[in-house]
Amino acid sequence: MLRIDELTVRYGPIAALHGISLEVNEGEVVGLIGPNGAGKSTTLNTIVGLIKPASGSITFDGRSIVGQVPAKIARSGIALVPEGRRIFGRLTVAENLQLGAAVRKDRAQVAEDLERTLDLFGVLRTYYSQPADRLSGGEQQQLAIARALLGRPRLLLLDEPSLGLAPIIVDLVFDVLAELKRDGVTILLVEQVAARTAEFADRSYVLRTGRIALSGTRDELDGKADFAHAYLGALDEV
Ligand code: ATP
Repeated sequence: MLRIDELTVRYGPIAALHGISLEVNEGEVVGLIGPNGAGKSTTLNTIVGLIKPASGSITFDGRSIVGQVPAKIARSGIALVPEGRRIFGRLTVAENLQLGAAVRKDRAQVAEDLERTLDLFGVLRTYYSQPADRLSGGEQQQLAIARALLGRPRLLLLDEPSLGLAPIIVDLVFDVLAELKRDGVTILLVEQVAARTAEFADRSYVLRTGRIALSGTRDELDGKADFAHAYLGALDEV
């Protein structure tokens, strides 16, 4: 579904990504794991058209999306839940959700999807008419994910959804992701919590200083020398 080949991204003279390649197949959950500054956000922001790559290709459903404006990429079915959630705090939960569905014309289907989303994220139903900044961090993360889902994306990109959340809330976020996985939503999940992400995803890529250092299933990553184990273990202690 998504294929990235030899992608290089520079910020001025400095390369943040050095020719990375990865792919996400329909229905898969793929992890992109790496420490601070590895280039994870850069990868996601480049996919959605916020950053122009220096070289390399990105195709979605076999068509190149490099150079397209973010709105067009979003319309083709890719949604990003950005790092730090970025919900609209002064708008109500309902208004935030409406924004997620704003690009859609199938109003009846939107109403149905909204109901399903509120079933999945019960807390959003409870606070539906409240300003979103009254929600806790974990609840705001659910709102950010729900808002993206209401655009009916075919591919959901999540940038560190567990960042800054208490461990018990991280469990809740992973429960929500598990539900989406069961529903067959295709996900590219960026995280620093390595072991858990590798466990959860069908396959993962480990990004280190702009290069893919390792890739595979959790078992394959575990099997890839002591280095892999030490690296994943060390990351989870961050
Ligand atoms: P984090 O977990 O901190 O978000 P990350 O893996 O998402 O890390 P990126 O944010 O993609 O990493 O950053 C990759 C590299 O590019 C880092 O060295 C960072 O300092 C640099 N970088 C990111 N954004 C910019 C920018 N706007 N201008 C210059 N350098 C940048």
